[in-house]
Amino acid sequence: MFAAMLVAGLVLAPFDVRHYAVRLEPDLATQVVRGEERIDLALLASGREIAFDAGALEVDRVRLHGRDLQFRRDGKKLIVDFGSDQPARKTLSLEVRYHAAPKYGLEFHPEQRQIYTIFSTSQWMVAVDAPSERATLDLALVLPKAWSALATGDEQLVAHVDREHDLHRWHLATPMPSYIYGFVAGAFRRADLPETGTKLDLLVDDAHAQQARGAFAATADMLSFFADKAGVPYPHRRYGQVVVTDTIGQEMAGLSLLSNDYAEKVASGERTVGLIAHEAAHQWWGNAVTCRDWNEFWLNEGMATFMAAVYLQHHDGEAAYAEAVKGWRARIDALRAKGVDKPLVFPDWNKPSGDDRAVVYQKGAYFLHVLRGELGETVFWSAIRDYTRGHFNASVQTRDLQQAMERASGRDLSALFNQWAYGKR
Ligand SMILES: [Zn+2]
Repeated sequence: MFAAMLVAGLVLAPFDVRHYAVRLEPDLATQVVRGEERIDLALLASGREIAFDAGALEVDRVRLHGRDLQFRRDGKKLIVDFGSDQPARKTLSLEVRYHAAPKYGLEFHPEQRQIYTIFSTSQWMVAVDAPSERATLDLALVLPKAWSALATGDEQLVAHVDREHDLHRWHLATPMPSYIYGFVAGAFRRADLPETGTKLDLLVDDAHAQQARGAFAATADMLSFFADKAGVPYPHRRYGQVVVTDTIGQEMAGLSLLSNDYAEKVASGERTVGLIAHEAAHQWWGNAVTCRDWNEFWLNEGMATFMAAVYLQHHDGEAAYAEAVKGWRARIDALRAKGVDKPLVFPDWNKPSGDDRAVVYQKGAYFLHVLRGELGETVFWSAIRDYTRGHFNASVQTRDLQQAMERASGRDLSALFNQWAYGKR
């Protein structure tokens, strides 16, 4: 898809990013990252300027085929000026050099010797943030020797840089949205998990290795369970999970991050494997079948929340599913009592509150539960497979889910979708 943007009244040329090639040197001691990046793009209409998302990056230089270009910042946007109108369809290769000390998006934990991303990709590379903009990626990281690392894409050979550093490289061959790009690197140890087919990686610090092995033991079962529900096999060669110092639980292409605290609670029986399942489910719903814009975010998060509960139903029994549904229902009641309930297709996902997130996650999951009850097991899951297969590696709107449900059931479901998703009576 393309990125046509209007920044401060300026009309910018729409373009499509084809490929990013990024080389990063994150430094644990100074908590600064230095980056060199090549962006291959095609202009979809002629124009002189284009805009990227660049967070708080300090851009040092932008070049086009070896020639320095003028650029300026407009808030979090980086505006690049070609100097003259460029014709549509022209393929351009920009080179950007930058550095940053990100306040979020890229976390440095010197005591634990860990560096990892938490969404907000444009805080550590120049990108187009829009979820409909899919591109391939080459990512290279200069890291201390003896560190382990996982990132988006297939890992290539590790090369020697100098006495203290190695270069780790990954290639993502399937175009994917930039918000699921990321990496994790640090003094981790590798823990083995039972595998059935897909190669599984689990990285964890020494203190949590034993617990994590138990907490993540169901991973292979989760992947085959979701592949069956989706009607599409797990889409990557490997699935990596890393237990880091502190995070909210994060999905990336072929990779998920969870926290030490959560792994401890799963190991002690205080928490379920629901969050591990939620992140695994995103490999299909979210990462591959992606909301077209953030107003349709419930198609990512409501779906992953629902699928995690369906996994718990299989893993822990009926009561676990019933408990999840009860929790969603109570959250919706609380939203209504507070007067902050909204339709699932969100009016404006600009600065979402905790209640807004509950609409997208819990109310979204509950609506899928309602559809499941309304259509019955056979029809509902046939519709989910149809929807997932039909939109794999593509952007979706709520309309696409509705059509799949209507095709499978032969029914007009507009009343239900109007009520829950569109807020129309
Ligand atoms: Zn999620």
